[in-house]
Amino acid sequence: MINYLYQEQNWQSQLSDLITDPVELLNTLQLPESLLRGANLATASFKLRVPRAFVAKMHIGNPDDPLLLQVLPHHLELEEHPEFVTDPLGEEHANQQPGVLHKYKSRFLLTLTGACAVHCRYCFRRHFPYQDNLPKQQDWLNIKQYIESQPDINEVILSGGDPLTLSNRKLAEWIERLSSIKQLKFLRIHSRVPIVIPNRVDEQLISILKNSRLRIIVVIHSNHAAELDDFTCGKLNQLVEQKIVVLNQAVLLKGVNDSAQTLIDLSYRLFDAGVMPYYLHVLDKVKGAQHFDLDSSDIEQIYKDVLANLPGYLVPKLVREIAGENNKTPLFGTTNF
Ligand code: SF4
Repeated sequence: MINYLYQEQNWQSQLSDLITDPVELLNTLQLPESLLRGANLATASFKLRVPRAFVAKMHIGNPDDPLLLQVLPHHLELEEHPEFVTDPLGEEHANQQPGVLHKYKSRFLLTLTGACAVHCRYCFRRHFPYQDNLPKQQDWLNIKQYIESQPDINEVILSGGDPLTLSNRKLAEWIERLSSIKQLKFLRIHSRVPIVIPNRVDEQLISILKNSRLRIIVVIHSNHAAELDDFTCGKLNQLVEQKIVVLNQAVLLKGVNDSAQTLIDLSYRLFDAGVMPYYLHVLDKVKGAQHFDLDSSDIEQIYKDVLANLPGYLVPKLVREIAGENNKTPLFGTTNF
């Protein structure tokens, strides 16, 4: 492990001091230079971006570290595959106005920033044109009118980019605006930042979330138990102690978490932190992520083993997102593999 005391540095400094150069990442982890050429080629289309706190959870000298594989650009990303496309979920068509994606009846997704603390190589939004889709101050009234014109909407989802890369002040402003819309009951915040920079869960954030009129649900994104060291679990637990619901979604990734035991360990570790497993996503077929894909038969077998070995409350729902569907599609026991 790397000797980096990320517990002692505030999250803003960590966010402004990410590793973005493959040379630095490989040197830090004492990995062979042979990985560099592929990393340099792949980072040209989707940049390397990883917080040092996340790198500190990786093992030195292991090119197959499951955390490293999620962030290290790889030459296989450059291979063309007809099924893997830039917009696998058809989100560009669901985009009603800047920052708004209304795909599901009762909830809509608000993208307040295109920035993420980490670039996950399998991200289905890795080609999303964020710069054309971010709401500005003056778009607020349009967003409000849009929500009010859709009485079925009772929940707003702040999603990625990652909303917890915003300052507490900005986040508080948006939460206050949203809470002024009477029909809204729930606010969901999807974020990977508490995993990659656990200090993001600071006192001010907790205070903003616990004092909101809206019922807050934080959905974190962790794919492997090694991401959840004691410090990270402690931070997540601080949210749970304030009666904020914390759920986890993971993505099933070849080489990272493609075994039942790895997923079982993840569920138990989440539970240690007071976090409930929510979704296990099958990989979205996004261009550049084909090397993380698994055969349907392997997915089915892994999930059967997870079901057989975990209590029901720790089993995440295995789902696939299909463009144009009214909800995520549950997979097990259906013909949708
Ligand atoms: S943090 Fe989320 S939105 Fe950002 S790159 Fe990773 S998966 Fe994609």
